[in-house]
Amino acid sequence: MSLTDMIASACAATPDFEPGHVWLAGAGPGHPRYLTLEVADALAKCDCVVYDALVSAEVLALAGTAELHFAGKRGGKPSATQESITAMLIELARAGRRVLRLKGGDPFVFGRGGEEAEALAKAGIPFRILPGLTSSLAALASAHIPVTMRGISRSITLATGHAAGTPDDLDWRALARVGEPIIIYMGLKMIGEISRLLIEGGLSPETPTAVLMSATTPDERLLVATLATVEAEVRRQDFAAPALIVIGDIVSMRDVLNTGDGS
Ligand code: SAH
Repeated sequence: MSLTDMIASACAATPDFEPGHVWLAGAGPGHPRYLTLEVADALAKCDCVVYDALVSAEVLALAGTAELHFAGKRGGKPSATQESITAMLIELARAGRRVLRLKGGDPFVFGRGGEEAEALAKAGIPFRILPGLTSSLAALASAHIPVTMRGISRSITLATGHAAGTPDDLDWRALARVGEPIIIYMGLKMIGEISRLLIEGGLSPETPTAVLMSATTPDERLLVATLATVEAEVRRQDFAAPALIVIGDIVSMRDVLNTGDGS
């Protein structure tokens, strides 16, 4: 069976992509091999794709002749507002298009997918949610860091560093007291402040900490430091977004698991 046939048979049971509908989908961490079959199928069937900055060119290439609308943030230029993005989705759907709203990772993990789905529901636009592989799970697998590990961790926290240092911030000291590994999205800029609060909350400054940049793409980079040294290492090695920060003893498992490297 060819890949195309496999996709068609796997997706045969999913609803038709009808004109005037929006499919809110996750494109995975970057490399097209992490797309789900359903999202690959939707790319082939849609009339237009409204995509974010984290969706790679290789993934967009699968959209064939569909119209492409960029709706993300691009360094230096003003970013599209959430209102203008939802307005675009509603307008395209009302014009009878099959609209694929494509986001990096999973649409419901720090992707504002919830807000967009809510706006579509309020506007009476039919929509579906198509999950994607969230970047942290793919990034940790590719770095040989187990997300959970018996004897080391019992839970994992996915946190955003976006609001760090603002009144809207989450309670990092309380998270430190839980003593379980933390994965931080959008945390690079505020890593100094975040690590300071976690150490204040009781995490050891020696806690192993990894930063995974542009995971699964050709620009992929990794650094391993401690909670106390991670900020300096990020600056020294010039790490840039998109990046994930992983804090906890699971990071040390990398040394063990790397010996099984089958690349
Ligand atoms: N919905 C997305 C997250 C969007 S928030 C998901 O499920 O993955 C954007 C943040 O995701 C980035 O700042 C970065 O922290 C993380 N991210 C997304 N793709 C990444 C990648 N390929 N490598 C490292 N971090 C990534």
